[in-house]
Amino acid sequence: MFKKVLIANRGEIALRVLRACKELGISTVAVHSTADNAAMHVRLADESVCIGPPPSRDSYLNIPQIVAACEVSGADAVHPGYGFLSENARFADILDAHGITFIGPTADHIRIMGDKIEAKRTAKRLGIPVVPGSAGAVTDDGEALKIADEIGFPVLVKASAGGGGRGMKVARSREELSSALQAARQEAGAAFGDDAVYIEKYLEKPRHIEVQVFGDGAGNAIHLGERDCSLQRRHQKVWEEASSPALSQEQRAQIGKTCAEAMAELSYRGAGTIEFLYENGEFYFIEMNTRLQVEHPVTEAITGLDLVHEQIRVACGQGLSTTQSEIQFSGHAIECRINAEDPRTFAPSPGQITHYHTPGGLGVRVDSGVYQGYSIPPFYDSLIGKLIVHGRNRSECMMRLRRALDEIVIDGVKTTLPLFRDLVDNADIAAGQYDIHWLEHYLADSAKA
Ligand code: ADP
Repeated sequence: MFKKVLIANRGEIALRVLRACKELGISTVAVHSTADNAAMHVRLADESVCIGPPPSRDSYLNIPQIVAACEVSGADAVHPGYGFLSENARFADILDAHGITFIGPTADHIRIMGDKIEAKRTAKRLGIPVVPGSAGAVTDDGEALKIADEIGFPVLVKASAGGGGRGMKVARSREELSSALQAARQEAGAAFGDDAVYIEKYLEKPRHIEVQVFGDGAGNAIHLGERDCSLQRRHQKVWEEASSPALSQEQRAQIGKTCAEAMAELSYRGAGTIEFLYENGEFYFIEMNTRLQVEHPVTEAITGLDLVHEQIRVACGQGLSTTQSEIQFSGHAIECRINAEDPRTFAPSPGQITHYHTPGGLGVRVDSGVYQGYSIPPFYDSLIGKLIVHGRNRSECMMRLRRALDEIVIDGVKTTLPLFRDLVDNADIAAGQYDIHWLEHYLADSAKA
């Protein structure tokens, strides 16, 4: 087992990792920017190292500083959390060269899945269902037209290096295709320094359903069921649940098995999420994230597994603590992402938290890095916490969520809590009937009202 783990992150996820390390008897090193001197992860860690000024590129993304922090503290492993350097293959390589374990997949697997065309090709080879589309990058407009005619309009032009929904354009007809190609190439080139684009069938009303997988790097892999993350705003997830209200037991078992077998064949190591769009009973792979996800607690709630414990076990060569046949799915869980943002305009709302009270009781979990008197700095993501609620079934979970939302108090800054209080009472949400566009439409309608 590792003796000391450096956590290359901040906020709620740094605390999440720190807690798992404490339980396993591992010392922790926090790193932080000068804007985070008073952050909770710094207060709770055994040691801390300041790695630079507030901007992320100078601190949380500053690889030489983080490696130096490992050296001075004597950390033998790094947990990257999510975001920041968690899917940076070069970071994994550099740690490896310094004899420090990266708690995550191999750099090769990060690289493959970080390139959307390569990821899709790999998924297809491994027997994972993909969205119909071009076999690789399309450089020629004539060829693009031919492919689009074959798969049928509407089509989506996507950037190979894409992320955060950028570099994506819909073309509804042959006439729209060339301008969509041009716009996507231009946006991708500017955002990612790589203008390679590919074509996919555009799905009109899909759900976003993702499968949590775990591999031991030695050819064994399991799945931990799925999460439904269809409630999104600008491609950012807002509310996630496990299991998906749209799937039957059989579909769940089937897609899970397909993903686990694929990961076994790949000899995948660590936690991963295989993301799909789901429409009319069919799954279509869109991408794989080679890290722990923000929404992992809903999976923890229904499986009882600690995913960070598993990540650490696998990284130090102990393998997974469980087998597929031992995993039992129990009840239903929902996570609400609490952002320090205006609930109507979604403009960031940094500042001091004047009152802070978290809900408790059976089946309620709050993962957050903030406290009363804490000042949310303006430099980072606006996620300040997650409320996760578990019940024996979806209706008990909703009932408990309504109660927990009633109890929670975060004053001094604006938060997205009022949005969740509305959603929990909405008939479509209660019925589990929503697709990836539902929330945008709902917000547009509420803005008019
Ligand atoms: P990114 O990495 O930029 O987030 P993804 O491939 O994960 O890109 O897609 C982001 C979102 O874009 C999806 O969650 C979905 O809402 C939408 N999307 C992606 N591919 C398609 C498609 N083929 N049809 C319809 N919507 C899509």
